[in-house]
Amino acid sequence: MANRDQPIVPPPGKPFRLAEFDPENTSGTSKEAALALIPSLRLGINELQDLLYADRRYALLIVLQGIDTAGKDGTIKSVFQEVGPLGSSVANFGVPSAEEAAHDFLWRYHARAPEKGKVVIFNRSYYESVLVERVDSLVSKDVWKARYDTINEFERYLVAQQTVIAKFFLHISKGEQRERLQERVDNPKKRWKFREGDLQERAHWDAYQEAFEDMVGRCNTAAAPWHVVPADHKWYRDVVIAKAIIALLESLDLHYPKPVAGVEGTVVE
Ligand code: AMP
Ligand code: MG
Repeated sequence: MANRDQPIVPPPGKPFRLAEFDPENTSGTSKEAALALIPSLRLGINELQDLLYADRRYALLIVLQGIDTAGKDGTIKSVFQEVGPLGSSVANFGVPSAEEAAHDFLWRYHARAPEKGKVVIFNRSYYESVLVERVDSLVSKDVWKARYDTINEFERYLVAQQTVIAKFFLHISKGEQRERLQERVDNPKKRWKFREGDLQERAHWDAYQEAFEDMVGRCNTAAAPWHVVPADHKWYRDVVIAKAIIALLESLDLHYPKPVAGVEGTVVE
């Protein structure tokens, strides 16, 4: 039985068991309360992003992972609704191009990492190198197994360079994925998102769950912890992610740069 009081950030350095996390968990939050709260959380993120931009000491990298239909796109649209394009962007990662595939596996991700003052949201990320590439046997076991340590080193390096990393694993149930895939088939406005390959990947559900467990278990470090987000309820997912981002940005003690001396009291004619 899943423990409803599981912390969103599992204890670092320990094997991670997905069965202990209930994707339907809402920690007693009602849908009404969540929907009433979300607008102010969005505004809070916008305000802190503005401060991050002005402060220029830190970059913020947000990593979104989750199986097809887990809600990566939906999270970006909802949680970042109030964040304007000044100082923020989304990097979507699909099947690597020939040029990308010819480079080391982190190359295309490092190239998109945020500069100081900026927020970049990775919609899928280098973690696909231990997810789809593992599950679909695109690389050998030796290759993907060695990547966990490489990823930890890469993240430690970015953190040492003032990049704050916020990683969210969107955890949905198999039943919820069935409903969302069916909705993509049935709803003409969502049909463009449906690909036959989605059903093939769904057939590998158990292999993906195992890959997600290893991803969180092996790469849940103090420098860059994983947040495991119960994502069957979109409104709860948004609250969890928005609150985590606000807490992280607030912990940075950001401030606006000092104005030039003597500017206070200046009267503009
Ligand atoms: P979407 O997120 O729906 O736009 O789909 C992106 C697709 O790219 C998914 O099917 C991913 O499995 C695939 N993809 C992302 N990264 C990789 C990778 N490193 N190797 C192979 N396929 C990938
Ligand atoms: Mg997709």
